[in-house]
Amino acid sequence: MSVINFEFRNEVLKHNASLSYCYQCSTCSGGCPVALLTSGKYNPRKIIEEAILGLQDKLVERQDPNPWLCSTCQKCVELCPQKVELTEIFTLIKNRCFEKNKYPEAFYSQGHSVFENSIAIPYSNAIITRRKTLGLPEIKTAPVDEIKTLLRTTNFEKNILEGIK
Ligand code: SF4
Ligand code: SF4
Repeated sequence: MSVINFEFRNEVLKHNASLSYCYQCSTCSGGCPVALLTSGKYNPRKIIEEAILGLQDKLVERQDPNPWLCSTCQKCVELCPQKVELTEIFTLIKNRCFEKNKYPEAFYSQGHSVFENSIAIPYSNAIITRRKTLGLPEIKTAPVDEIKTLLRTTNFEKNILEGIK
């Protein structure tokens, strides 16, 4: 059984008041590519419903539906007739999941890779060779030192990378 957590609901509302505009029409779920690929198991409308109801245990503890599956493509935000800012709301939910160490390992490794290589998913030698064969230009990445300075200044390294080791 799910428990209503009013504090959590108010926190989401404070973070993004557009949550209260949702009238559960399901347009977001109907246009969501991840909902399509998962045969509706991933359902953005349901995440919004659970946030409105303050069901923190379902959203954060059980991750049902799993907010990490959102690809942040923003299609739902574009389609929503009520201008609900779904992905902003999902960010807060994912932050709460992260604080409880409930996050996919890939997100940590990608964050680490951004810090070390200034790119989330470094290109393999096979990809680089294939690009050369195809005559594609060399891939340019952002300067690593500048990225490191930025991530240190914003405490990303301290709070995120070191904080969860
Ligand atoms: S499209 Fe907008 S109003 Fe409709 S269910 Fe989704 S978030 Fe709610
Ligand atoms: S932003 Fe996320 S929830 Fe919205 S349509 Fe894209 S994958 Fe689906």
